[in-house]
This record gives sequence, C-alpha cells and structure tokens, in this order.
Amino acid sequence: MSKLSVKDLSLKDKRVIMRVDFNTPIDSSGKITDNTRIRLAIPTIEYILKHGASLILMSHLGRPKGKKDEKFSLKPVAIHLSSLLGKEVKMADDCIGKDVEELASSLTPGNVLLLENLRFHPEEEKPELNPEFAKSLASLADIYINDAFGTAHRKHSSTYSIAEYFPKVAATGFLMEKELKFLLDAISNPEKPFYAIIGGAKIGSKIKIFTTLIEKVDAFFIGGGMAYTFYKAMGKQIGDSICDNEMVKVASDFLEEAKQKQVPVYLPIDNVVANDFKSDANYRTILSENGIEDGWQGMDIGEGTIKLWKGKLENGKTIFWNGPMGVFEMDVFAKGTFAIAKTLASLSATTIVGGGDSVSAINTLNLEESFSHVSTGGGASLELIENGSLPGYDALSDK
Ligand code: AMP
Repeated sequence: MSKLSVKDLSLKDKRVIMRVDFNTPIDSSGKITDNTRIRLAIPTIEYILKHGASLILMSHLGRPKGKKDEKFSLKPVAIHLSSLLGKEVKMADDCIGKDVEELASSLTPGNVLLLENLRFHPEEEKPELNPEFAKSLASLADIYINDAFGTAHRKHSSTYSIAEYFPKVAATGFLMEKELKFLLDAISNPEKPFYAIIGGAKIGSKIKIFTTLIEKVDAFFIGGGMAYTFYKAMGKQIGDSICDNEMVKVASDFLEEAKQKQVPVYLPIDNVVANDFKSDANYRTILSENGIEDGWQGMDIGEGTIKLWKGKLENGKTIFWNGPMGVFEMDVFAKGTFAIAKTLASLSATTIVGGGDSVSAINTLNLEESFSHVSTGGGASLELIENGSLPGYDALSDK
C-alpha cells in the first residue's frame, strides 16, 4: 500500500519534524565541499514552510560513535542551509533535552530549527538501548516526515522507531517519493529491453541484486573488480586481480541460472591490467580470453568492451547502473566508468543510477541532469530493489 505524502497533510500552524540526510562532506575549515544532499531537501522544506508550518530538521553526520564530537557538528550545515533558504535557521546544541524542547516550542510558522547530530546519542543507531530517545524526538512535533532516503534502509530511532508516535501523520517527503517512483515503479515494471550494469568490488553485497533482477532484465553487463570473481568461476586465469574466493561458487551458480533462463551475461572482453595497484603502475590492455598472467591485475574494462557494450546499451529502454567499471579513483583506470556514464547520459532511455561511486563519477562529469534518476542512497537503493520495501518507508502511515 502506498504511504502518506507531505502533500496529503494539513500543515497550517503545525510543528513538523523531518528526518533529512545532511550527511555532507565538510572540510577542516568547516566548509561544505558538496551541498547536493542539502539542496535535494529544499523542495520539501520550502513546501512545508509555505504551507504555514514550523519545521524541525534532524540528521546524522559522519560516524561520531554515539558521543558528542564537534568535528561532526551540523552547525556548518545550518549556516549553509540558511543561505540557500534566504532565512534564519536556528541551531540546537543537542537533539533532545530541555533546551531543545524550549527552542521547539518557541517556533512560529515559517521558522526552521536544525537539531544537532542525532548520532551523538548511541540510541539513534540502536533504538533498543533506550526507546525513550525516539519518544523524546517525537515529542517535539505534531507531524513526522521522512525525506532521508539514504538512511531509510536502517531501523534507526529517527528513521523507523519515531514513526509509531505519529499515527496517521507520518509521511514521505518529495525526495523519498521520487526515489520510490524510479527505483520501485520503473524497475518493477520496466520498459524493455531492460539492462542492468553492475560493477564495483564487493560482489557479496550485490549478489542479491543479481538474483532479484534476473527475473526482469534482458541482459546483465558486469564490470569492475567483481568481474574477476566471475572469470574465476568460469575457470579463467585472473592473475593478481581482486577476487572474492568465497563467492566463486555463488557466481558460478548465478551464471548457470542465467544460462538456463537465457539471460545474457556480458563480462568484459578485454581488460586494462596493471603490474601494481597504483596510478603510476605499468599497464596494458589484454584480451580476456587469454586470461591474466600472475603479477598483473585487472583495473578497468578495455576499449573493445566499451565499444561493444555501447552498441548493445543503445538499444535499451530502461537501464539500471550500480558500481564503477574499474578503479576509477585513479585517472588512468577511470576510462571505462566514465565511458559508461557518458553512454548512458546520451540515451533517451530511462536511466537509473543506484548511488555510491557511479554517482560520484556522474557528478565529476557534470552529467547528473542527463539521467532520469540518480539515487541519493547506495545501500538503500539496492535494498529497495532487492526487497521491494524499506523499513523507513514501511514505518510511515498508509495513505
Ligand atoms: P563497491 O563498493 O562494491 O561498489 O566497489 C567500489 C570500489 O570498487 C571502488 O572503490 C573501485 O575502486 C573498486 N574497484 C572497481 N574495479 C576494481 C578492480 N578492477 N580492482 C579493484 N578494485 C576495483
């Protein structure tokens, strides 16, 4: 059943508490180096304020391990948000307690208050330590909105437990709605052909997405470090390439299943290999069929693969991409990842990118606007596709 949206609620003269994802990179001088996550929260913030409510925002930042630590303070975010909104954003010293309650009750319509980092309290990530924590957060407001898609796969106090204190008034924000629309609706009912491009290093964390998508896709394209586990499963020589030995059998079973279901699985036909895991290592391109010699490791997909895959991807009507095609943090091995990003950006197909490193590659190339949807949550986007739901979404009130 679909969930209540902020648009379904009467907001006038109400106090709204909203979970946002302001987990933004901040340098040592307190400067925000990428404000994407703050900008993405603005449509819901402005909607709430325009409709006559006051707003309390709450978020985590980094991993302060349950203790107050100024390094992880959200104060720079309050200043930045204030300049984006063109209005004052009050900053609380904590997220619960008497002072916060007083600040919250002094808010008038149109006011904005940002609570201090939720993760200064261990109960945020471990609600079972003290259920009163979620209750205290809830006591600050009349309505709860969750617009923090990136943490919606976690059962935390502010993303999950808190919702029970807002029967019939716990709703999604616009960012959450957009993520759900693309990651759930577009992928569960994709326009065909539907292709999935999966890369990155951690095959273990992504194998479930393979088995979920096998029922839906017309082909898989597998690049990045995980391709070598698949090569090994096929009995190929992979030299010193990254390989998850515990997943070789799983990869082999998956290839067998794909064969039976007649779903093509494209692995790189050529690879850029290096003699060290360094940007200044010696490197060259080899054909995959010849295997990789000891002393060399696969770092990127090769030009031949890029060309072949480009031709195939151009027929796609829906394409889902998660994970880099190589060690893209090193410029010399970023070609494959950037080529895939550019190819997808040039297509009129529905193109959906599932968070993490693929998103940072797209941002580096300034191609964000050329994709149908660039997800703000790596882990959350995978879990949503795998399970068809997310705890932070399920906890909200039904429409
Ligand atoms: P993941 O978190 O599983 O999406 O993996 C992302 C990481 O995979 C990035 O940091 C890449 O540098 C890394 N990666 C991609 N291709 C390779 C490769 N061929 N060898 C080692 N690491 C890789």
